[in-house]
Amino acid sequence: MKIFLWRFCRNNIPVRNHLRYKGVPVMILCPMCCVDVEHILHLFFDCIFARSCWQVAGIDYDMARVESGPEWLLNKLETSTQGECVKIVTIMLGIWFWRNKKVWEDKTITADLAMEMSFRYVVEWRKARKVSKRQTTRTETETAKISKKWCPPPQDYLKLNVDASFFPQADAFSVGMVIRSHNGDFVGAKVTTLPRPSTVLEAESIGIREALTSVLQRGERKLIVESDSLLSIQAVHHKKNYLLEVGHVIEDCKMFLHSMPDCRVTHIRKQANKVAHSTARIPCSIICSIVFTSPPSYLLETLMNDFSNE
Ligand SMILES: [Zn+2]
Repeated sequence: MKIFLWRFCRNNIPVRNHLRYKGVPVMILCPMCCVDVEHILHLFFDCIFARSCWQVAGIDYDMARVESGPEWLLNKLETSTQGECVKIVTIMLGIWFWRNKKVWEDKTITADLAMEMSFRYVVEWRKARKVSKRQTTRTETETAKISKKWCPPPQDYLKLNVDASFFPQADAFSVGMVIRSHNGDFVGAKVTTLPRPSTVLEAESIGIREALTSVLQRGERKLIVESDSLLSIQAVHHKKNYLLEVGHVIEDCKMFLHSMPDCRVTHIRKQANKVAHSTARIPCSIICSIVFTSPPSYLLETLMNDFSNE
């Protein structure tokens, strides 16, 4: 509607006499009545279809006093209530919509029906907007609530938290992973040390790939992987591969996820991912892994904290 209004006020609606003026070889007669030349004043105010639309919607105007469409409209919008403004624009957009239907699809409709559809569209748009506003607020609060603390996965699902950690002056970095069940029970943990990549982003992305590889090896199907690297998670969810520096790692992650339809990767705040962070700090020799089937003492406190947060 706004774009239409702006174009109308700039006298920039491609009616036939405008197109002819610009050298486009089109017929000049109004497609709605086939009697007069199609120019803005005719199409929106003087044509029989337009007159009927305004009449049906209950808006009066004196055609003799309408000299320029944009001027008439701006003046009308200034002196009308908000409800009337919406009505006026809805009528005009409806006229333009059905004019195009006639030109491109050879479809015609009565003014009554055209206006009924236009006004119903406005009502539906308002309704949809109300619903989506409510939904957005709810999702936002939920996300904020969830991401501040660790939450167990839904029933039948496991959750794997993953994090990468650099050791100063070392040629390696570590990936820590912890798997827990829907009631918060410890299922397993693993720390793997790998050669240090050039960026933190690459390390975080490799961490997610390691997590997905482990999931695949364990044969788990219903699983949620959580990482605090927002960029990596966004890249995994993005259709195109825009993070060129870690493109190959992200591609691997996407491939794994494709083969595991019940597995998903989500973002979590750092403070809710402490267990994975602590696991990544467990000392481990280079290119080596340690697997824990019961919680190691280093993790007990963090695990307990997550548990009591529930
Ligand atoms: Zn006409």
